[in-house]
Amino acid sequence: MIIDILTLFPESFGYLNSSILKRAQESGKITINLIDIRDFSLDKHKKCDDYPFGGGAGMLMTVQPIYDATKSVLKENSHIVFPSPSGEVLSAEKAKELSKYEHLIFICGHYEGVDQRVLDLLKPEEISIGDYVLTGGELPTMVIIDSLSRFIDGVITGESLTEESFSCGGLEYPQYTRPQVFEGLEVPSVLVSGNHQEVKKWREAESLKKTMSKRPDLIK
Ligand code: SAM
Repeated sequence: MIIDILTLFPESFGYLNSSILKRAQESGKITINLIDIRDFSLDKHKKCDDYPFGGGAGMLMTVQPIYDATKSVLKENSHIVFPSPSGEVLSAEKAKELSKYEHLIFICGHYEGVDQRVLDLLKPEEISIGDYVLTGGELPTMVIIDSLSRFIDGVITGESLTEESFSCGGLEYPQYTRPQVFEGLEVPSVLVSGNHQEVKKWREAESLKKTMSKRPDLIK
């Protein structure tokens, strides 16, 4: 998958170069390009924002640099995403759906957002990462990319996915690693019994218990 990120703040994306996402890029499963919207501004000072018509607080990103930056990477198979509080809230299902595209273009809004004509002309899919407002679309873009990349073949092991919260239909069971006893708290004995059937049963029961107590809305 190729991902082009259009932003005024390319320096914000260091996270994408660490851990699993770094490996996914090194192995060629994902290619991520950062495109500085400012490079496309026709303004002599490379300005990319202006006051909103009609007044109001803050500045808006202007349409021309975003439009031209998008056109510079747009292909027949591109899908444009605009992270926005107005969009559908991100879910595991949506992340999986996005992971099927060959080419994604993310437009990162900033300040008070973008001129409405960006949306009218480019018709991006708007996706929210929750009912709160962040200062820019950079973090939401990274959240969306991180969540979708887990569904790209080979980025993580298949088993991690099927047993993961939401993918398994509820919340994941509690997990333990060494040491077996810490501050008097012992790992449940079934997990060190070597009995795989019993471990499976225990995990299913714990997953259900946790889901019923923390997220009963997930139980169909
Ligand atoms: N004025 C806008 C509103 O009230 O909906 C908020 C603009 S916000 C300060 C600036 C940019 O951050 C947005 O254009 C969007 O790209 C991004 N953003 C902020 N909160 C977000 C969220 N919950 N989900 C996705 N993107 C968000």
